[in-house]
Amino acid sequence: MSCGACAAVCPVNSIALEEGVPKLVGLCIACGMCYNNCPRAEFDVEEMERQVFGRARGEDEAETGVVKAVYAVRTKDAGILERCQDGGAVTAILSQFLADGGECAVVAGLEEGKVWSPEPVVAVSREEVVAGAGTKYTSCPILVGVASAVNEYEKQKVAVVGTPCQMRALRRIETGDYSEAKIREAVALDVGLFCMETFGYSSLMEFLERAGVDASKVTKFDIKKGRFIAWQGDEQVYNVKLSEMKELVRPCCHECDDFASEFSDVSVGNVGSPDGWSTVVVRTERGEAALRAAEKGGLIEVKPLGEVKPGLKAVVKLARLKKKQAKKGE
Ligand SMILES: Cc1cc2nc3c(=O)[nH]c(=O)nc-3n(C[C@H](O)[C@H](O)[C@H](O)COP(=O)(O)OP(=O)(O)OC[C@H]3O[C@@H](n4cnc5c(N)ncnc54)[C@H](O)[C@@H]3O)c2cc1C
Repeated sequence: MSCGACAAVCPVNSIALEEGVPKLVGLCIACGMCYNNCPRAEFDVEEMERQVFGRARGEDEAETGVVKAVYAVRTKDAGILERCQDGGAVTAILSQFLADGGECAVVAGLEEGKVWSPEPVVAVSREEVVAGAGTKYTSCPILVGVASAVNEYEKQKVAVVGTPCQMRALRRIETGDYSEAKIREAVALDVGLFCMETFGYSSLMEFLERAGVDASKVTKFDIKKGRFIAWQGDEQVYNVKLSEMKELVRPCCHECDDFASEFSDVSVGNVGSPDGWSTVVVRTERGEAALRAAEKGGLIEVKPLGEVKPGLKAVVKLARLKKKQAKKGE
């Protein structure tokens, strides 16, 4: 995994990510923190659901995880609209979190001097949160950013955005026998993203080069309706079937059965809503409060997902497919 959870919780700082891969760089004291907070190591899902949501998922939530409510959301803020991936729900929620006294949001920014390479950013201002908007389809060690926010910047009210594996790691760190107290106490909002897969960074860059795409000029990558698209401003400079990129998918994604970020407070994706809107799955009280705060702050408009097409059934369909693929190890 490249989520960074093992590095974030190692009490003797003996794990570092090299090219996204965790490496032992010092003495191992065999405390078990890395293994027991790893999103890929087995854990008791039902028990975690009870701890986080107060109940295990019902039969009708088998694919999505515990759901309180589902919405279609679109930002009303021109600055967010300009930078966001879909409806800007994530950036709006995080911006409002900071406006309401949150101390920082850990987001995926871009590393300077390395094209489209995501790195965790401890964003303390609305400008920094907006700068981190947009989807990076390669993995980012978000949990390293969380540890940095808490241990180095000493932040005590932190929001975190991440993919399903990162949300799983974060919840493991927040709950259970091997939780990390400082992080648990500081994290105030877990914002998950829907995710089918991530690509390996080097293989994606090589693939684009072979296809004649200058990634340094691409302003946005997008996955829509089974196609991977690269944009340069308003111009589509590349459009390919996702099935042609199968070999770029990171092996660990084949084992992941979580599409909808099942352990977040609020999960966001594009499937289920019309273009330009985000689908938002609210799972907890604090997720609902964060969404409503952004609405009250004038940053978003919110509709029940049932009022738009294709709605929740499209989310369930993809989530079911991911579970099926994970079972087969595809
Ligand atoms: C790897 C990946 C795969 C995805 N696959 C799907 C999919 O199959 N179906 C679907 O409906 N949605 C998918 N999404 C989610 C979708 O691309 C949008 O992120 C989501 O709809 C939110 O849109 P928004 O306009 O509200 O977000 P924005 O307001 O643009 O904010 C996006 C937030 O996500 C953070 N972010 C971006 N990339 C990463 C990353 N690699 N790791 C951690 N955080 C990151 C940004 O820093 C920012 O805070 C995927 C996202 C990622 C990162």
